[in-house]
Amino acid sequence: MNLRRSYRLRGVVQGVGMRPTIYRLATQLGLAGFVFNDGQGVIIEAEGPVEKLDDLLVRLQSELSPAARIDEIHVEETLPIAGTGFRILESPREGIRFTRISRDLATCDDCLRELHDPTDRRYRYPFINCTNCGPRLTIIRDVPYDRPRTTMAGFAMCPDCLREYHDPQDRRFHAQPNACPVCGPKLFLLKADGTTLDSDDTLETVAQALRQGEVVAVKGLGGVHLACNAADSQAVTSLRSRKFREEKPFALMVSDLNHARQLAFINDQEAELLTSVARPIVILDRKPNDVIDDGISPGLGTLGLMLPYTPLHTLLLESCGLHLVMTSGNLSEEPIAFRDDEIVPRLKGIADLFLLHDRPIHLRADDSVVRVVNGQCITLRRSRGYVPDPISLPKPLHRPILTCGAELKSTFCLGRDKQLILSHHIGDLENLAALEAFETGLEHFQRLFYTKPEAIACDLHPDYLSSQYARNTGLPVLEVQHHYAHTLACLAETGDFSPVLSWTLDGVGLGTDGTLWGGECLLVDKLDWRPMARLRPIPLPGGEKAIREPWRLAVAALWSSDSEEAKSLAMKLFPGRPVATIVSMLEKGLNCPLSTGAGRLFDAVAALAGVREEIVYEGQAAILLEAMTQRHYPEIVISRNDPPSYSMTIGKGEIIEMDWRAMMGQVVQDRLEDLPPGEIGARFHATLVNTLLEVTRALSNSTGLTRIALTGGVFQNRLLLGNLWRGLEKAGFTVLVPSQIPLNDGGIALGQAVALWLAQK
Ligand SMILES: [Zn+2]
Ligand SMILES: [Zn+2]
Ligand SMILES: [Zn+2]
Repeated sequence: MNLRRSYRLRGVVQGVGMRPTIYRLATQLGLAGFVFNDGQGVIIEAEGPVEKLDDLLVRLQSELSPAARIDEIHVEETLPIAGTGFRILESPREGIRFTRISRDLATCDDCLRELHDPTDRRYRYPFINCTNCGPRLTIIRDVPYDRPRTTMAGFAMCPDCLREYHDPQDRRFHAQPNACPVCGPKLFLLKADGTTLDSDDTLETVAQALRQGEVVAVKGLGGVHLACNAADSQAVTSLRSRKFREEKPFALMVSDLNHARQLAFINDQEAELLTSVARPIVILDRKPNDVIDDGISPGLGTLGLMLPYTPLHTLLLESCGLHLVMTSGNLSEEPIAFRDDEIVPRLKGIADLFLLHDRPIHLRADDSVVRVVNGQCITLRRSRGYVPDPISLPKPLHRPILTCGAELKSTFCLGRDKQLILSHHIGDLENLAALEAFETGLEHFQRLFYTKPEAIACDLHPDYLSSQYARNTGLPVLEVQHHYAHTLACLAETGDFSPVLSWTLDGVGLGTDGTLWGGECLLVDKLDWRPMARLRPIPLPGGEKAIREPWRLAVAALWSSDSEEAKSLAMKLFPGRPVATIVSMLEKGLNCPLSTGAGRLFDAVAALAGVREEIVYEGQAAILLEAMTQRHYPEIVISRNDPPSYSMTIGKGEIIEMDWRAMMGQVVQDRLEDLPPGEIGARFHATLVNTLLEVTRALSNSTGLTRIALTGGVFQNRLLLGNLWRGLEKAGFTVLVPSQIPLNDGGIALGQAVALWLAQK
């Protein structure tokens, strides 16, 4: 009988003829397998009769070249794969451990066929999977990846499953989560109070509950969703109020592409994303329909749709025949619930019924979110289905690193050799629950990827919990400016770090001068970078509060324009608000930090245009302004006169300032003339795009650069991104927009990792 063993050799084992010796010995002994070098030494995998394997080690040690020295040999038994031949693999082959762990994969067609075949032994089995599909990252507790180190450890395979597992001809050969109704995980139901609900047909019971308008907590792959019938406005409303999520859009899961097409316009690229193995939520333009409730995405012209990605989801949608709201199982702002002991306590009072199973989830993973703009996929949240695929650097890191990201949409990043592993989405790092999720996630990733960081990077902002975490590690810390990091994340995807002009339009990020940035054009040439242009700063009366209450920004914008009339206008536009107090704060400069953030400009315009005075989720005023504009100009093509532009002055000087003050007065005029917010929005978008184009031309002339990066959270606005992108391309520029890396703060950790890599001596 053949065995397979893996040997890790440490010591003086590289560059001393070790691999050819091993190759010669293994071939003489008739062993199959391979040998390669990695960052820590030599790795051998050899398969053959036990006495030959023993022989290999003995002869290796007696036939070593004089220069070689083996300090340590670590041997592990692995499962034979009936391989043939022995090979030396490409060397050096860095980060092999990084690539060993797969992302979670949506159910494959073969498994779906079996799922629907009444003669198959896994007919309607909600946990069917194979080597081509099923859970991976979310069930792995430790490496190397095999069943005892996953949350499948507690399920001993039945003889049928074992036979498949050991048969190299079988699709389930070495499928670690392999399972069947006899030996694998099972579904169960709990009532609203957490007590058991017995049912002869679990899925039918759930389908009935959904049809009756109940909210069902569904434990899936990386966490729990809250599901309800998307056509039932009462169900949608009650889910919103129980979850304290008043207006933020809900994602939907529909059974297949045909159903998705009833709800939204879907082009080929979007269809491909919807059906890809990653199965992200795709943001799509909503079709006029009365199939789903308007409360799904209030005020927006878009829908976030996804298709089933586990067999359980497939069966659930088939059983109920509905389009389902599928939103993260949490209270607003908390991380998604995933541990078995927390699901009921946390979701009691929200769910009427719990559809759970006994396969533990080890790592929480939210659904990923993408959108297609200008023919390119843009990632808004990179998590389930994409993580932990590495991003490669052109040259290796000298030492392992960790970067801690920013605050909102938190992620961290580990780096070793040439590879960067960007973590799953953790959420907004604003409270202890989120910090705990950050720390446990980090600990887990360090173990999975054998990475003990020796250098660390964080945001320049000292108060972020992520920055505090970085400093507390005691490692050397590099503080990386937020928008420089955004730019580097964008460049990392291209692998080309030659000089670039980078528009970083963003919410908030601390600048090097102590003010809040987010409206800059940076010139970035590896370690050298500086702002070349920026929006005129706007004071934020009340700091953070101004971000939640855009009317304050509107007042600040009018006040900045220095006209007496403007102040009385503010009183007129916001009669119920303490305008005088805000004006007095502005005059005294009391708690009015300055920000160039483009997000704040959108907020001010949205409030002045009458879109929204207060918001209930991040960026809401700007998002609604975009939606109204889109409705008003379904195919907005920005040119000089259609829609007409406002005036934005372009200053001179070392840093070009784009001054919006005159524009604000014009916005108010339009508002007073009762122009619809969509028209004002169109004029504003046109103004901004035209100004950015003009400044880009000027900067390109003075620097000779024609590569333009577009990044930062404000570019999640498709009107802005799409129009500026096309305009720049038309003018002959090369435009770089991040695709796999989020262009919002979910990508900051990756940019920080690139900064550490560039800075290494
Ligand atoms: Zn499969
Ligand atoms: Zn079985
Ligand atoms: Zn940012």
